Amino acid sequence: MFELTVKSKFSAAHVLCGYPGDCARLHGHTWTIEVKVFGNKLDELGMLVDFKDIKRQLASIVDQFDHSFLNDLPGFGEDGVNPTAENISYYIYKALAQRVANIEADVKLKEVSVWESPDAYATYREDT
Ligand SMILES: [Zn+2]
Repeated sequence: MFELTVKSKFSAAHVLCGYPGDCARLHGHTWTIEVKVFGNKLDELGMLVDFKDIKRQLASIVDQFDHSFLNDLPGFGEDGVNPTAENISYYIYKALAQRVANIEADVKLKEVSVWESPDAYATYREDT
């Protein structure tokens, strides 16, 4: 099995509603997103899938987050979902899984990790 990893970053503000501490106040992070895809079959170039294609699909989801107030975005705040690292990883996974399959049928999304700081991150994956 081959596994590819791409990373992306965005900076945004959020509020964790109901949190008993300073994260309930408006603050920001530069989040790092790490996406892993996997598959068994390489193409004639020796690639599982072009890194650029995964990066492009990831950007189409994450670009809306950059320099935003995450609580204002669909899928978070108004829907009662706190934009935690866990919920952001889930959101990206759900938005990205089909797009990865559309690039290359034999390639599947493995997991999405969201780093809130250099030493703390959350990962979402599903059984495949
Ligand atoms: Zn925070």
